[in-house]
Amino acid sequence: MVYLKTEEEIELLRQANLLVGKTLGEIAKIIKPGVTTKQISDLADTFIRDNGAVPTFKGVPNPYGGPFPSAVCCSVNEQVVHGIPNDRVLEDGDIVSVDCGTLLNGFNGDSCYTFCVGEVSDDVKALLKTTKESLYLAIQTAVPGHRLGDIGYAVQSHCEAQGYGVVRELVGHGIGREMHEEPMVPNYGRRGNGMKIVNGLCIAIEPMITMGKHDVYIDNDGWTVITKDGKPAAHFEHTIAIHNGAPDILSSFEEVEAIEEKLY
Ligand code: MG
Ligand code: MG
Repeated sequence: MVYLKTEEEIELLRQANLLVGKTLGEIAKIIKPGVTTKQISDLADTFIRDNGAVPTFKGVPNPYGGPFPSAVCCSVNEQVVHGIPNDRVLEDGDIVSVDCGTLLNGFNGDSCYTFCVGEVSDDVKALLKTTKESLYLAIQTAVPGHRLGDIGYAVQSHCEAQGYGVVRELVGHGIGREMHEEPMVPNYGRRGNGMKIVNGLCIAIEPMITMGKHDVYIDNDGWTVITKDGKPAAHFEHTIAIHNGAPDILSSFEEVEAIEEKLY
């Protein structure tokens, strides 16, 4: 069942998502070689609670392991998504995808940004650039009358043209009072296929793109998704609403990009 949102609900979703943007902005300030992923998560946990919200990822159950223990997911290099923050020290040349969720006034924020740690190689920077481009191309196609397959096609065609892999096992999703609602929003697809996009539809679009093959496996911890070939992966995510006939980006990279000089 797909729940379409009212104007009021979209504004509540926006508040939750703007807080995710601010949280990612705070994280951007501390990311450098020597920082641990646990420090990133602790900062997010405190910042989200200080702003009257709850970090939604903490405690998410998992049939293959224990509940997720931390406020954010930190996935380093060949880790695609769902990395558990720990004492791993980030090193010069690493990339780290920080996926953040908030629950504020009953609505969910969900957004992810892949950060560079120190000086990152040009080929990895190109992966990040293409992945982020594919997110915005997908958002542009999210207009009433198009279909979910158009979104997937936008991501897949852009990334595969550069020789990158599109992860199949994980997808974007509807979002609202629940972090994960219907419909599923794959990062691959055929134009003109799938559910029709309509006003009031609120979805998280989140390309997960690999430098090599798209195959992944789940680590023994039951959470961390890792590329089989060990090549790096990027993950960018925005929550959007289809609103007045156009995509409206509810989350924000502005705070990150205002201070993220090490851009690509
Ligand atoms: Mg997310
Ligand atoms: Mg998501």
